[in-house]
Amino acid sequence: MQLLKEKILAEGQVIGHDILKVDRFLNHQIDVDFLNLIGQEFYRRFEGRPVTKILTIEASGIAVACITAQYFHTPVVFAKKSQAKNLDKKFYTSQVYSFTREAAYNIFVAKDYINPDDGVLIIDDFLANGRAVRGLIDIVKQAGANLAGVGIVIEKGFQEGGELLRGAGVDVKSLAIIGSMEKGEVVFK
Ligand code: 5GP
Repeated sequence: MQLLKEKILAEGQVIGHDILKVDRFLNHQIDVDFLNLIGQEFYRRFEGRPVTKILTIEASGIAVACITAQYFHTPVVFAKKSQAKNLDKKFYTSQVYSFTREAAYNIFVAKDYINPDDGVLIIDDFLANGRAVRGLIDIVKQAGANLAGVGIVIEKGFQEGGELLRGAGVDVKSLAIIGSMEKGEVVFK
């Protein structure tokens, strides 16, 4: 998505050699008009798939998932990262290793919100090593639901997530794929 690439070049900031900070439009301040274009693009790319739910992970996936769901007219379910007291006792859970926080955590989705007859589109902001998406796919499998695809805003193509998922037959569509971020310079694939 050309506009997204331009936005990353204009507003993104490379931290170290493998973290891209996009707090100006996606991860802290949210450019809603721009996110709307992202939602439209996901709809264009997954249109016609049997999508009944959009699944993401808190917190930064929620905004993108909600704006995309407006076009699919489906609910959004977001996996929680803590087992709150008010969470239903019947839940699916999976363990995820966080790339940015360098620690493992569990994710939880109440069984009420994903059923075997659901077609689930997974949406997230970033794809790095693929741990978050793999945790979400695990939950889709536990629910016996159908995985309709995986939509990613920014894939860091120099990390292994995309290759592992596509190699396992998962239909991953990323709106921008970064090939390298050497010396602070973002180069797209
Ligand atoms: P993965 O599970 O694929 O290794 O990492 C994906 C998750 O880590 C995403 O949900 C995202 O929140 C976070 N993440 C990974 N790499 C980056 C990055 O370069 N920038 C930001 N802002 N988040 C990232």
